Amino acid sequence: MSKDKMNDSIDDKLFKVKYKSAAKTHLKPEQEKCRVCKEKHCLYICPANVYEWNEVEEKLIVGYENCLECGACRIACDACAIGWEYPEGGFGVTFKYG
Ligand code: SF4
Repeated sequence: MSKDKMNDSIDDKLFKVKYKSAAKTHLKPEQEKCRVCKEKHCLYICPANVYEWNEVEEKLIVGYENCLECGACRIACDACAIGWEYPEGGFGVTFKYG
């Protein structure tokens, strides 16, 4: 790997990922479990900032279109609250440019 690529920021690297968004989400958190979860590891572990906690609605907001399909959120969730599957065929990410 060249030195230039190693110095790329996360935003630079994410810019190189090509997405084809499906019409429906492949990430389905169980909101009742999320509501009582104290740690909310998904907010910190996701490299693409897919998850956001809405304090007013007490709800996990999911920007599934940006998901890199790494699976880290599913593994990190202590409550096993993240329903996770790959996007339907032909959709999701390609790492063509990165
Ligand atoms: Fe984020 Fe990876 Fe989970 Fe996608 S699979 S939401 S990129 S942690």
